[in-house]
Amino acid sequence: MNVMEMDNTYVAHSYGRFPICITNGKGSLLYDENGKEYIDFGTGIAVNSFGVSDDVWKEAVIEQINKVQHTSNLYYTEPCAKLAEMLCKRTGMKKVFFSNSGAEANECAIKAARRYAFLKYGDGHSTIITLKNSFHGRTITTLSATGQEHYHEEFTPFTEGFVYAEANDIEDVKKLAAENKCIAVMIEIVQGEGGVCPLDKEFVQAVRKFTEENDMLLIVDEVQTGNGRSGQLYAYMNYDVQPDIVSTAKGLAGGLPLGATMLGEKVKDVYTPGSHGSTFGGNPVCSAAAISVLKRIDDKLLEDVRKKSEYIFSELEGTEGVEQVTGMGLMIGVKCTKPAGDVVKACMDRGLLLLTAKDKVRLLPALNIDFEVLKKGVAILKETIAE
Ligand SMILES: *Cc1c(COP(=O)(O)O)cnc(C)c1O
Repeated sequence: MNVMEMDNTYVAHSYGRFPICITNGKGSLLYDENGKEYIDFGTGIAVNSFGVSDDVWKEAVIEQINKVQHTSNLYYTEPCAKLAEMLCKRTGMKKVFFSNSGAEANECAIKAARRYAFLKYGDGHSTIITLKNSFHGRTITTLSATGQEHYHEEFTPFTEGFVYAEANDIEDVKKLAAENKCIAVMIEIVQGEGGVCPLDKEFVQAVRKFTEENDMLLIVDEVQTGNGRSGQLYAYMNYDVQPDIVSTAKGLAGGLPLGATMLGEKVKDVYTPGSHGSTFGGNPVCSAAAISVLKRIDDKLLEDVRKKSEYIFSELEGTEGVEQVTGMGLMIGVKCTKPAGDVVKACMDRGLLLLTAKDKVRLLPALNIDFEVLKKGVAILKETIAE
């Protein structure tokens, strides 16, 4: 059996894979088993922040592997402590809980909000408002939090305690808060899986004001938007708000599994020994990788991300076959007259890897993608869309 046959036989069929087998790469270029080269505008879904097989990232990972790869959370390790300090200093948050994925980072955020409200107000104060068209993960609880009907089928019973507001409608948020004992509002600044749709700044600021006035927590899911992707370190920084809880994962460790839930002043002490945990969470290798990634996301890199973003917008907006370009930083959605799936397939044949999000083509290139490689990829995309 070749790799594809073996995979199709033995790996659970939860993914619709494209018929290419990636073997290696460098930076923003990937190669398949036949040696065909691809420009990578997907980065493993916003995970490989600095592309593939990056030298700086590899050095950080290998250095830590040579010391100790895992200890459990029974002992202290330097990478975990240092990473938490870095995250707090750069966000104004107070404490961090580490896990292994976006869904787990959100679980931790949800548990933190519930425990905060329980300790303060007692039983029954547990409802969290999330937004329609959101995506928060694949566990039973984060699927519950996800405001899209089609995720709510066939896996019942779901975790209770979520109600869904219309995005960009503060009156709907207020109405739901009046009808339920609400403790928090959970949002993505840019709804990624929902079609790369940025929320209105006025809406996010109104949610912040409303939650503050009503002792409700603002939870921002930065699993996809975080770690430089939006052109700021975290996307909420584009909107001049300070959340109570921020979850992130995907690009944080640049290709290793790491989730982080940052806890602000109000909830910083909500977890006490034994109240939450993770075997792998804060693993020293993943933490060392994340330290290396965060160090490189400085003002200069963020400015570069914004410049590359402007370039992509200016190339695609108003060109033939493009109906709309949405997003922020290097997280961009392109609504084409042609079906998104057809564009992605045609581009793949031409050596460009893209993603989709709902009815849009989605671009998530590496933060440090070479301008020349970016230009080449955008040209292939433009040409394909216009045909
Ligand atoms: C990808 C994603 C998740 C889930 O992350 P996993 O690591 O797959 O569990 C949650 N929220 C958002 C906004 C995401 O984009």
